[in-house]
Amino acid sequence: MADSASGMTVTFWGVRGSTPVPGPNTVRYGGNTPCVEVRAGDSIFVLDAGTGIQSFGRDFREKSDEPVKLHLFLTHTHWDHIQGLPFFQLAYDPRNEIHIVGPKRQGSALLDCLERQMLPPNFPVPFALLQGVKSVTEMASGDSMQVGDATIHSAALNHPNESMGFRVEHGGRALAYCLDHEHGDTNQIHPGVAALAQNADMLVFDAAYTDEEYPSFRGWGHSTWQEGYKTARELGVRILALAGFNPGVVDSDLDAIKVEVEAMAGRTIIATEGSSIEL
Ligand SMILES: [Zn+2]
Repeated sequence: MADSASGMTVTFWGVRGSTPVPGPNTVRYGGNTPCVEVRAGDSIFVLDAGTGIQSFGRDFREKSDEPVKLHLFLTHTHWDHIQGLPFFQLAYDPRNEIHIVGPKRQGSALLDCLERQMLPPNFPVPFALLQGVKSVTEMASGDSMQVGDATIHSAALNHPNESMGFRVEHGGRALAYCLDHEHGDTNQIHPGVAALAQNADMLVFDAAYTDEEYPSFRGWGHSTWQEGYKTARELGVRILALAGFNPGVVDSDLDAIKVEVEAMAGRTIIATEGSSIEL
């Protein structure tokens, strides 16, 4: 855990996009949908509530039975980024203080989107029973929020139904989180990504595809590890963490990408469930 004076510790609990893909071919890098835990001094941040958030909750409870206070930042409400919330045990404990923050959008209130996921007959337990959730707040693109000693900045990304990226700053360190995002066809880095990731210590980037696969998925709202690499180098990022892998990507595919990126300049990692990095 980072001490309260400086730095951050980042732990990956879910690294897959679209749908969980458990099984023998994904067991090494992990099969859960997106969730990242960030410890920044006394503050706990959770980025996205994919199925990986269940692992975060279990891990937390194994280490402590104390009430928890945390902020959960949601990039958007596509299933794979919220589907772990109804199974997030910490959210049911009324002693806890969970503050959910997500994108402000035209026509779709964040709270409505979260409640609708849990409506009968599609789910038996209503959102209102998540008694550990004390607030749901919308954040507009470009807004910043202070939590403890940390500052969180937001920016809209390029994604169907809109996605929002975040930059968490604490103790002179910065983490940029850019899932889900499509780089598009221009040679310009998207202004949202540029605003969030400039000189970041770590950029978590949407590496759903390879450049070779991308033409078949144009317009689906995701990017490639090669675009992540170019973006990270151009923006002076210290560590690039590739994540958001397409469901068809298996461990041996990620092994091959790992070999390739480790031979390239700069530090690039394959985000791996259960692994932590101190910034
Ligand atoms: Zn999405």
